Amino acid sequence: MSGWECQVVGDCGSKPATVVQALQGGTEILGRLGIDSARLDAEVLLGTVLGGGREQIYLNYEMPLKIHDEELYRRLLLRRTRGEPIAYITGHREFWSLDFYVTSEVLVPRPDTELLVEATLGLIEETASRDRSVEPDAKFQVLDLGTGCGAIGVSLARERGDVEVWATDLSSNALEVARANAKRHGVTERIRFDQGDIFEPIKDRRAFFHGVVSNPPYVRRSEMEDLPREVRDWEPKLALDGGADGLDFHRRIIEQGYLYLMDGGFMVLEIAPDMGEKVCHLFKSVGRYSKGSIHLDLAGRNRLVSARKLSLPETFD
Ligand code: SAM
Ligand code: GLN
Repeated sequence: MSGWECQVVGDCGSKPATVVQALQGGTEILGRLGIDSARLDAEVLLGTVLGGGREQIYLNYEMPLKIHDEELYRRLLLRRTRGEPIAYITGHREFWSLDFYVTSEVLVPRPDTELLVEATLGLIEETASRDRSVEPDAKFQVLDLGTGCGAIGVSLARERGDVEVWATDLSSNALEVARANAKRHGVTERIRFDQGDIFEPIKDRRAFFHGVVSNPPYVRRSEMEDLPREVRDWEPKLALDGGADGLDFHRRIIEQGYLYLMDGGFMVLEIAPDMGEKVCHLFKSVGRYSKGSIHLDLAGRNRLVSARKLSLPETFD
């Protein structure tokens, strides 16, 4: 047992633990609780306590920890032992190489969702090169439904100065977090936030958007209880629960979304890997979209479906 761990269990009076001892002690505690990423988590928490990243540990390996740093580290470890996600403890998570502020009011942005940002940028580029009606200084209007911490919308606005994002969420607390992230990344001028149910906040903007993107909740209700503990017990159910077959949101977004897209506008939706065919079928059954494309992640799993709104000839009745 390291000297540091003795102090954790209350054997006071020994010398202050060094950084390396604290790291070993923390790793051991988290490891004993079956946390797979025990070493990494202990490094992140200790780095946070030392006021920087994990590199602080290796720069100060033999330094004795100050008493209040040790107390803070112990409190953070305790939160982790209860299953709280690291991102909620440290208050941030990297996404698209940007540092996003997160709280327990929002889903922790997942690396999988970076694929959605990448695909959206590809679709915007395709639109720019094929649509000559887009003036050189015109902005692409993109709707990010269920923006959460703003990961998708803020990344898009950061990546392209010619994109304007409309970000909506049912949760006003999530929108507060997203607003803070837009400010942090200097894109408040080109991103607007509105609270409400799916398309409700932009219902007057028919045929307005070049693109509609979303990572909607898609966990099947019967599988909510089987999610890993740190997701099930800590992340907002509102961000995860996709109804009986997990597709409640995809269905609504696809059925209504074409109304808000301009002709040829694109839609990209994140899916669970086993939902590809069903979501393609949803696009097809509405009859207002071109054939859907399924996008694979690096592991070869289905992760996104995209389609474009068909330009239909005017009909008169
Ligand atoms: N876009 C973020 C991301 O990718 O990290 C968050 C995605 S999370 C899976 C889904 C988001 O949809 C949550 O922020 C949740 O609050 C929001 N949401 C749930 N129901 C909604 C509804 N009826 N209308 C609008 N947003 C909703
Ligand atoms: N991929 C997430 C998870 O299972 C689910 C995200 C979602 O519902 N959009 O942790």
